[in-house]
Amino acid sequence: MSDEQSHRSASALPRAEASDGFEPAGVFPSLGEPLYQQLRRAGHRRIALQVPAGLLRNAAQIAATIGEQSGARVSLAARSCFGACDVPEAGEVPGAEACVVLGHAPIPNIRLPLPTYFVEMREPGGDPAALATTVVAAGLPRSLGLVASVQHLDLIGPLTRALADRGYSVRTATGDRRLAYAAQALGCNYSPAEALRSEVEGFLFLGTGEFHPRGLALTVDLPVWSLDPLQNRLEPPIDRASLVKERLLRIATARDAQHWGILVSSFAGQFRGAMAESLRRRAEARGRSATVIAFGRLDPSDLMGRALDAYVNTACPRIATDDAALYQRPILTPPEFLMAIGEEPLEPYRFDTFR
Ligand code: SF4
Repeated sequence: MSDEQSHRSASALPRAEASDGFEPAGVFPSLGEPLYQQLRRAGHRRIALQVPAGLLRNAAQIAATIGEQSGARVSLAARSCFGACDVPEAGEVPGAEACVVLGHAPIPNIRLPLPTYFVEMREPGGDPAALATTVVAAGLPRSLGLVASVQHLDLIGPLTRALADRGYSVRTATGDRRLAYAAQALGCNYSPAEALRSEVEGFLFLGTGEFHPRGLALTVDLPVWSLDPLQNRLEPPIDRASLVKERLLRIATARDAQHWGILVSSFAGQFRGAMAESLRRRAEARGRSATVIAFGRLDPSDLMGRALDAYVNTACPRIATDDAALYQRPILTPPEFLMAIGEEPLEPYRFDTFR
């Protein structure tokens, strides 16, 4: 290993590689005539429909409507879908000539295995004045960075203006090549917030649940609040110190691991083969053994019974940060792996931003 390689930082890990495939065939804010018209024009005979967990209950009805309106036969892809990184592959739904994906924006830096139509399911609700009043009443810092899940991006502008009217300085930023929109939150990439971290006193996430606030808090060392735009409910700030402590404990349990498994996903939007190879070399340079293990969707049972001490996952970073308890052995992100083998310091904690 060269001197230069041995002194690379985690940020110098190879990026995801572009693969062959299609550009998005269309992007729509919601289900409706513009989508159906484009599907009719394209003349697809068979379409695969992928819906996120929150829409499963209505999936059959949605499939029937798309079929009636487009003239295509529509089959549901049963595999659960966590992001635009793992859309159905050719052959996964036999005979499908195209795919409709609900609830996600396209990821610009990946190519798609089938002509794919994204329906982002934008949410028009939320009262900017009432939301701004809630933020002011809670005494949030006057200088805030704003990010949102794709469903609530249309509220960014109106809420920014409503907060400015109340004396706030609200900033948004454009992310990197993995994000379709400025201010967009993606579970593996909060680059709009990274761009603002030195210019604001805290971040406000517009959306529901803890998934994005936790990822955001691991990425930026600033207070993160979450505001549910439809319920007008502001959550207490995320306890970043506890999150980081939990990750440092996981890293500590893997520090003595001699035999590592390096996990690589075949999904177009999760594949980081060059990074896996780089990590393998770096493990070996530190006197550890490393075996690359390939998969599509990772299941904890896939890793059972292997004579390996710990894993580093080059696929979705949230598998390690959110699902670690499902695995028998420590499972780390690539930056955490470099901390565990002593190539990077433990502080500051570095989130595995997928670029
Ligand atoms: S890699 Fe993970 S966090 Fe990123 S889009 Fe895919 S499922 Fe979401």
